[in-house]
Amino acid sequence: PATLGMLGGGQLGRYFVMAAHRLGYKVVVLDPDPASIAGAAADHHLVAPYDDPAALQELANRCAAISCEFENVPATTLALLAQHKPVRPAASAVGICQDRREEKALLASLGIPLAPHLALLPNEPIPAQASDLFPAILKTAREGYDGKGQWQIANWDELVTALATSNAPCVLEQKLALEGEFALTLARNPSGAVSALPLVQNWHSGGILDQTRSPANAPGLEREAKTIAERLIAALDYVGVLTVEFFLVAGQLLVNELAPRPHNSGHPSLDNADCCQFELQVRALCDLPLPAHIRVRPAMLINLLGDVWQAGTPNWPSLLALPGLHLHLYGKVDPRPNRKMGHVTITGADWQAVEETTHILRTQLGIAGHRSQ
Ligand code: ATP
Ligand code: MG
Ligand code: MG
Repeated sequence: PATLGMLGGGQLGRYFVMAAHRLGYKVVVLDPDPASIAGAAADHHLVAPYDDPAALQELANRCAAISCEFENVPATTLALLAQHKPVRPAASAVGICQDRREEKALLASLGIPLAPHLALLPNEPIPAQASDLFPAILKTAREGYDGKGQWQIANWDELVTALATSNAPCVLEQKLALEGEFALTLARNPSGAVSALPLVQNWHSGGILDQTRSPANAPGLEREAKTIAERLIAALDYVGVLTVEFFLVAGQLLVNELAPRPHNSGHPSLDNADCCQFELQVRALCDLPLPAHIRVRPAMLINLLGDVWQAGTPNWPSLLALPGLHLHLYGKVDPRPNRKMGHVTITGADWQAVEETTHILRTQLGIAGHRSQ
């Protein structure tokens, strides 16, 4: 069987390995962490830095095609590998998604609505118009995730302090009154076929995804989101899986950010769709057909952060007794607060059943609930 390469060894990489295995592929994972969970699931784990020349050569030799599970793989690594084997998505697209400044510049150039913002550099004077954005959020341009590398800014002094603390290029973004958050995950293969999961609605807590409803109850927004996402795919000449995060503000969709990969909010597809986001990733990578239409049934995802373990290991048997409950534990051993340890997806024939079970689950886990309606 053909072997596929995966850059990154976290939970998204682990699901890629599982989907690839199901379709008959072997997988080599490159991740510097010897305890990588995707590395453990793969046929071979290359333990080396992402820019290690020998490891990259070995990856290119062994693999028919290569993808990534997180956007912070050096773009130079992707470009180097692409000299030998197909790399999807391409370095050019991932490079843009690595940097909020480039991402926002792309969105602006396409006329796609986005939050008012300003790029700032440490050790350079802050333009006076920054204060027009207050209250704002300062975000590091690169490498932030799960709300890390972000500072809430109410005034000039806080901005000066936060920019100095970050000591890195940043984007200052106006804090918006969100009416909702949504995400669309879609895939394009090298032959040009495009396949989308349904639009999902997301609820965040402290900058971390807490809950996802799939599908969202918003047909009009879904059409708008698909139009925007397809324009982005075309502009980036994108091949692979792309997730577009949206804010709903004053009835209008704005793009928050892009993820050049499957996404936490796409996890319901593991249990509620007839093609999950990781199978889409494998299919796109290998130029296999993409489903013309992905059917889904109602599902709610609740993330399991390390906090849930504070009162001891949850009573899994009692949770597994709940109807339509699908438990996913990622095999991480150290349940630190705010660390994504797993998730639960609740499926049901109708939303009332899903809502009821979600409520019972949250009560049992002792985590306050978000409302989905
Ligand atoms: P991810 O883990 O999704 O990559 P991230 O660290 O890149 O997250 P963002 O997506 O920029 O962070 O922000 C995280 C969350 O913080 C958003 O989903 C939203 O709930 C909130 N947020 C971010 N920017 C804004 C904004 N301009 N106005 C209001 N809320 C915001
Ligand atoms: Mg992000
Ligand atoms: Mg985000």
